[in-house]
Amino acid sequence: MRFVDTHAHLDGEEFAQDRQEVISRAREAGCEAIFLPAIDLPTSERILSLCQQHPRFLYPMVGLHPEEVKADWREQLKAIRALLSSHLSPLTSKIVAIGEVGLDFYWSREFEQEQMEAFEQQVQWSIETRLPLMIHCRKAQNEMVHLLRRYEKQLPGGVFHCFTGNEKEAVELLQFDRFVLGIGGVLTFKKSHLPEVLPAAVPLDRIVLETDAPYMAPVPHRGQRNESAYVQLVLSRMAEAYGVSEEELSAQTMQNVERIFGLKF
Ligand SMILES: [Zn+2]
Repeated sequence: MRFVDTHAHLDGEEFAQDRQEVISRAREAGCEAIFLPAIDLPTSERILSLCQQHPRFLYPMVGLHPEEVKADWREQLKAIRALLSSHLSPLTSKIVAIGEVGLDFYWSREFEQEQMEAFEQQVQWSIETRLPLMIHCRKAQNEMVHLLRRYEKQLPGGVFHCFTGNEKEAVELLQFDRFVLGIGGVLTFKKSHLPEVLPAAVPLDRIVLETDAPYMAPVPHRGQRNESAYVQLVLSRMAEAYGVSEEELSAQTMQNVERIFGLKF
């Protein structure tokens, strides 16, 4: 079953001991590519060099995550923007998205205003570079939608990553018609509403698969470290929820990834 893991923090400490084995297991499971979101300047740099070691399998993103927006956010953004400019040439490793960026008011609203400004700047980068956005949003959908609407016509598209909301929230996000929802392990959790919400509100051409590894491992690995090979568990649960074959879901989600990220596998 072919798939792409569109969101995995494979650069993390959690994979320091066995990253190569994790990549091999992913390939054996049918994974065609893994996209790595950055969260700040050091991870943006680290991910670019890690992806250079695995061309045409690991693909980098650069960006400043809302939870990493602290007092030094302006300096971080400036340096990440420079990194982005220096990697726009086709000769260097292909950056697939600006990410992960967005708003997160779950833990703290201390840097609310700074988060909004940092997100807006990175939305503008997406428009300038035509790279899609990998968006993280928690407890802030109203604010995020409000901001994105102002740029709606110019945005190239992107992913609302780790979608776990209800039908109404799905419908609102899908109004951005060049965007898709990123769905991961939560779909397999016993109490998840996603198996009902998705078929009711989300057409199959508006979904991409992801892990958010090392987090959000699907059943039966829930609570353990997640890895890209486990996307196949999400894929089969999703096929069941939509009442389609795994082959059909695999083909459709591959097409979605190619469309959103401008790649061909
Ligand atoms: Zn993430």
